[in-house]
Amino acid sequence: MNKLKSQYDAVVVGSGPNGLAAAITLAQAGLSVLVVEGKDTIGGGTRTEELTLPGFLHDVCSSVFPMALLSPFFRTLPLKEHGLEWIQPEIPLAHPLDDGTAVIADRSVDNTAENLGEDADAYRKLMRPIVEDWGKLESLLLGYGRIPKSPLAAARFGWHALHSASKAARSLFRGARARALFGGNAAHSILPLEQMPTAAFGLVFAASEHVAGWPFARGGAKKIAEALASYLRSLGGEIATGRMVKSLDELPGARVVLCDVTPKQLVKMAGARLPESFRAKLGRFQYGPGVCKVDWALDGPIPWRAEECKRAGTVHAGGTIEEIEASERAAWNGEICERPFVLVAQASLFDSTRAPTGKHTGWAYCHVPNGSNADVSDKIEAQIERFAPGFRERILKRSVLTTSQMEARNPNLIGGDITGGAATLRQLLFRPTARIYRTAAKGLYLCSASTPPGGGVHGICGHLAARMALRELR
Ligand SMILES: Cc1cc2nc3c(=O)[nH]c(=O)nc-3n(C[C@H](O)[C@H](O)[C@H](O)COP(=O)(O)OP(=O)(O)OC[C@H]3O[C@@H](n4cnc5c(N)ncnc54)[C@H](O)[C@@H]3O)c2cc1C
Repeated sequence: MNKLKSQYDAVVVGSGPNGLAAAITLAQAGLSVLVVEGKDTIGGGTRTEELTLPGFLHDVCSSVFPMALLSPFFRTLPLKEHGLEWIQPEIPLAHPLDDGTAVIADRSVDNTAENLGEDADAYRKLMRPIVEDWGKLESLLLGYGRIPKSPLAAARFGWHALHSASKAARSLFRGARARALFGGNAAHSILPLEQMPTAAFGLVFAASEHVAGWPFARGGAKKIAEALASYLRSLGGEIATGRMVKSLDELPGARVVLCDVTPKQLVKMAGARLPESFRAKLGRFQYGPGVCKVDWALDGPIPWRAEECKRAGTVHAGGTIEEIEASERAAWNGEICERPFVLVAQASLFDSTRAPTGKHTGWAYCHVPNGSNADVSDKIEAQIERFAPGFRERILKRSVLTTSQMEARNPNLIGGDITGGAATLRQLLFRPTARIYRTAAKGLYLCSASTPPGGGVHGICGHLAARMALRELR
């Protein structure tokens, strides 16, 4: 274990993408920075391991990175020079249906519209302005500024976004294809689709398909963490692994401490440093459903019935919007769904480093109730088999991670919640409290996905928390 100095300008607890982004921002400002990581490897939600068989590289958590490409902060970093290479699959997303066809979300708005039949014009009319206005909208949507750069663009977006996805899908589209595609994108909110503002998630994820694509990192998600860490070290930052922080008193002295953890852990770590009233507020922070995650070593590619699915990086295996609604409602209400909405990624189709020649990897999860330890891998596999007959015969080995196994690997995944807390309207605005990145203790900040703009690999929470800390230091 490396020896630490007794004093730094800043200490960051946790080396997820937000912890590393915070550390980079502080180091760029000339501060001496230490990142303390509890596990033996860095990265949090950006880790890659041989979970099944030797030679098969699986992304343990995140695998598909539209938010990293959209991140105004990551865009400024020399991550390519530090070994990060993005791979864009031919089609970002495919959504198979029972008639043997698949709806696709292509990089082009027009190509996507064309496969939506009667809803082609409605899709163009909806998505073109959002895609064209993205530069004006991103600061608002990605938490950079609460005041929109263009009130007109914001109002146009808000008109549809501030609804439930269920309502928006039915008022915007007439056909099952467009509704299913929209519902699948909106389900990334991990909320019941009848809740506001799930339509906003449907729109942002759809826009990300056109604006950024849904890329993989060559070599796996860990390459993102490695590139961030390498750049941080080039700025003089230090990283210590294998030190799970139980109390902030264990840390070396620092002018500011930023925690890449969720409110539940912060309460424990900070103890009496935080007044009782603030601890109570953090205690009321709501976590969302968890996930059951399955990774496969495969004898060949997934034999999707619809050709388009074989060319897509991500596949939403969930059927109609009605089925997706039932699946997300069940997870929120503490029930296990027989036919869950399954998110599938097939990185090895586009990245030969992931599996031995001729073999493939599969990555999938579905939402389950928070803390449920149900192994629903049979239901996940049944959903894939439904759209890819013969899939099960290709499985060489599977790894299943239930919610408690996910949390054991990363303490931020409370009850299996993968986005640092539910993205309800209230918790999008005041995340985790009205103080946002600040806590009630001077010099102590939260910088994880439990702060705006929330879950995903984009580093913005960490960057904005660090900017706040720098402002207050000055
Ligand atoms: C199964 C799954 C699939 C996902 N898919 C995607 C995807 O495809 N695309 C996407 O953009 N996002 C995805 N996400 C979400 C994404 O991974 C997270 O939102 C993101 O990693 C959050 O970053 P973070 O830095 O806030 O926290 P994390 O990445 O969770 O990192 C927190 C770090 O802090 C460390 N830590 C916690 N407590 C302590 C302590 N007390 N002492 C020391 N260290 C500590 C942890 O070990 C961890 O390394 C997925 C997540 C999961 C779990």
